[in-house]
Amino acid sequence: MARIVVLGGAESGVGAAVLAKVKGFDVFLSDKGKIADKYIEMLEKWEIPFEQGQHTEELILNADEVIKSPGIPSTVPMVRKIEEKGIGIISEIEFAGRYDRAKKICVTGSNGKTTTTSLIYYLFQQAGLNVGLGGNIGMSYAYQVATEHHDYYVLEISSFQLDNCYAFRPDIAVITNITPDHLDRYDYKMENYVRSKFRIIRNLRPEDCFIFDSDDEITVGHLDKILTQARLLPFSQKEEVQQGAFLQDDKIVVRYEKDECDLYLEELALGGKHNIYNSMAAALAAKAAGIDNKYIREGLETFAPIEHRLEPVMSVGGVLYINDSKATNVDAAWYALECQKRPVVWIVGGGDKGNDYSVLLDLVREKVKAIVCMGLDNRKFHESFESIVGADKMVDTKSAEEAVKAASKFASDGDVVLLSPCCTSFDLFSCYEERGDKFKEAVRNL
Ligand code: ADP
Repeated sequence: MARIVVLGGAESGVGAAVLAKVKGFDVFLSDKGKIADKYIEMLEKWEIPFEQGQHTEELILNADEVIKSPGIPSTVPMVRKIEEKGIGIISEIEFAGRYDRAKKICVTGSNGKTTTTSLIYYLFQQAGLNVGLGGNIGMSYAYQVATEHHDYYVLEISSFQLDNCYAFRPDIAVITNITPDHLDRYDYKMENYVRSKFRIIRNLRPEDCFIFDSDDEITVGHLDKILTQARLLPFSQKEEVQQGAFLQDDKIVVRYEKDECDLYLEELALGGKHNIYNSMAAALAAKAAGIDNKYIREGLETFAPIEHRLEPVMSVGGVLYINDSKATNVDAAWYALECQKRPVVWIVGGGDKGNDYSVLLDLVREKVKAIVCMGLDNRKFHESFESIVGADKMVDTKSAEEAVKAASKFASDGDVVLLSPCCTSFDLFSCYEERGDKFKEAVRNL
């Protein structure tokens, strides 16, 4: 019996282990940290042997193949040892793709993945299709392949998951955009990160579709350098395209084969320039899957905003508080600031992934009246913005409660307090969800 070892005992790893078990492999799961109770229960229920708090070499280096969770960098010693022994390392997505005959719509990119993936899933649901949602969202793809049947999957796939994909092939691939992010995992080389995103299209056939942002110079620049047989479906807010999606006056036009679908901007459920891009990408994916214009329109008009993404929390004294905790990089915060129509008190800060704030200077000059830093090391923010907003309009805080109180002092009737941090949350919080929840709690307690 072939032996599969899974490294990492969270959603992705446990899902992969269950699928391996269902497919009759000798499975072992190893996690150097602590495995959450929920996953221990699952492993026990499926009778999958596992260890936590350590990696035992004898139990790992005898694998025929290793499935590595995306959170584990390839530089950790155990991964190096596995590579030295010549054992193949794949991702959960690669593994599950081997056993799945469903049509797959896969979304990657620097920003907008979750929004676009959720939009596509919603459009497919509107059309009454038997569709599963997975990848980085909700239940793992592998677990669903092991336990359910779907005709379609809409999967959000991070570049870390793509790094260990080889034969995996989507039917429709989407790259939302590519901006510097996670460069710490790519030797600080943008080229490596871009190449990793483009792995999503490497196996596409002529009948498969590649949906991408043709306003994004990095995406287009890389596409020019490679060969792909896939059918190209660009979306743009700057120019008309022959096939794909573009803006015309007050509407999005989606052109696919001989058909066109018009989507009026004021009818779209999600506001902001970035969500026009996301809506274009989602509409194109739906068209390419043969979904009727009626469902696409209805879906894009009735979609509910997702938590922690430009989520309006409440108004206090005429000040609207917005939770955009998921804006963990500079580009995401750019779009959040860009779509604000009222003066902004901006809450920023957290873990910096080699950020360059210069692209935000114009927007800050135009829209931001005060900045509340919420992080352990705020020096870069002061260096970048103090000369614009003024030293007396910047403060340092170390909790959501302190930050919200400080922001409320700067804000007056008609302003917006926007948490759109540009940074990861790990210096003060366990994850971006916790940061967003603490922010909302602090707002409610004002
Ligand atoms: P991801 O899953 O790629 O992190 P999300 O859909 O969760 O993306 O959105 C993350 C953040 O990025 C949100 O705070 C949102 O304001 C911003 N954002 C969403 N879509 C885009 C886009 N197309 N371009 C730039 N920023 C975006």
